[in-house]
Amino acid sequence: MIDKADVIIVGGGVTALSTALCLKQLGVERVTILERHAVGAGQSGRAAGVIRGTVQHPVVAATQLAGQAFFTDFASSTGIPLDVHRVGYLLIAQSHEREYVEQTAAVARQSGCVVHAIDAAEAATRQPGLSAPQEGIYLYEPGALYVDPMPAVHAMMLAAVDAGVTIVEGCEVETIRVQRERVVGVDTATGPIDGGRLLLATSVWGQPQLAALGVDLPVRPHIAQMAFFQVPPASSSRLETILFDTRANLYMRPEHDRQLFVGRKESEYLDPDDAPVNPDDYRQTATYGAVREMARRLAISLPFMQRGFVHRTYACTYDVTPDEMPVLDRAAGIEGLFFAVGFSGGGFSTSPWVGKRMAALIMSGTPPDDLRLFSLGRFAADALIEWSNTPA
Ligand SMILES: Cc1cc2nc3c(=O)[nH]c(=O)nc-3n(C[C@H](O)[C@H](O)[C@H](O)COP(=O)(O)OP(=O)(O)OC[C@H]3O[C@@H](n4cnc5c(N)ncnc54)[C@H](O)[C@@H]3O)c2cc1C
Repeated sequence: MIDKADVIIVGGGVTALSTALCLKQLGVERVTILERHAVGAGQSGRAAGVIRGTVQHPVVAATQLAGQAFFTDFASSTGIPLDVHRVGYLLIAQSHEREYVEQTAAVARQSGCVVHAIDAAEAATRQPGLSAPQEGIYLYEPGALYVDPMPAVHAMMLAAVDAGVTIVEGCEVETIRVQRERVVGVDTATGPIDGGRLLLATSVWGQPQLAALGVDLPVRPHIAQMAFFQVPPASSSRLETILFDTRANLYMRPEHDRQLFVGRKESEYLDPDDAPVNPDDYRQTATYGAVREMARRLAISLPFMQRGFVHRTYACTYDVTPDEMPVLDRAAGIEGLFFAVGFSGGGFSTSPWVGKRMAALIMSGTPPDDLRLFSLGRFAADALIEWSNTPA
């Protein structure tokens, strides 16, 4: 067991792995990731793995495009194979949403995202079996992709190990040790580790861990319910693209050949007054009511799914902030303490961008300019990030 590190990273998900890789690129010698379970056991291994740049904020769009480039180039830059499914993204909106959605496309394009307005006929060609009224608004982003999350996490872990990162699994951090307002190390179930710089990348677990150190973050756990639907045997159509349709408020992507991986638009059912969720103890499947509702809405966009069926479901927790954007910052009163949490269901795609900026912040102590957008101070300053690609 190691007893010293230049940078300790708590948590073994994509945020930790990306940051560790970037720290190694900056020449940091001893980078150690401590994961209480197995790498990918948190949200990272259970994501949809969708990366699309069609959002209404230039920096947020840039975070997504960085994710697309990272995963697209991953195999060639690391020599580690990874399947990347570049199936495109089809956004369907209604005529009263035209102005908003056109603005989304304009903003995304400013950041380099290739996104086209297409007509109903082209939308129906891109997605056979789609209900595509003439008056609908259709955007198509050809570069959007998804990765199967667990193989992607595993590939990133191999890349981190190859780069010299130490990864300790089954190692729970019990205490972050602070002396004279400086981080000095951690106590783990298997012994102490000394280190003056620490990144907390523990998603839903991060808020109470930081609160114990007097750092208060507006991040709360929220349950996301997901379902895999099977295309009915008689149908010759299947899902060809990543799809979001405001008529149904569902997002989906293909899963294997004849399945659809489906979730609901989070902002529709996030309620700040919901009872708190224990991220270590919650129901692991979607409720019957949620699945029935998803099935009903799915048929609005894809009528051939009327005779489809639910193959399986699961539930997982999101670490949600008031604007559904992460908090990427350092603790004001504790030198050497950094945090990257609150990804609100979107931290897979952004992890390469986040890792690069967090590594720079950790080593220089100064946030890169574009990272300041995600500071903790934005909540008190009422400077929430508006980024959604469709109206609330
Ligand atoms: C159903 C679902 C679908 C999603 N779809 C997408 C998507 O399509 N695109 C996208 O960009 N994002 C998506 N996300 C979000 C994305 O998965 C997360 O934002 C991202 O994986 C968070 O990564 P992380 O490394 O910050 O956290 P995690 O992967 O959750 O890792 C945190 C780790 O910290 C560990 N830990 C906690 N406490 C301790 C401790 N004391 N000591 C040691 N280890 C500890 C946990 O075991 C865990 O493994 C989705 C999420 C879910 C749940």
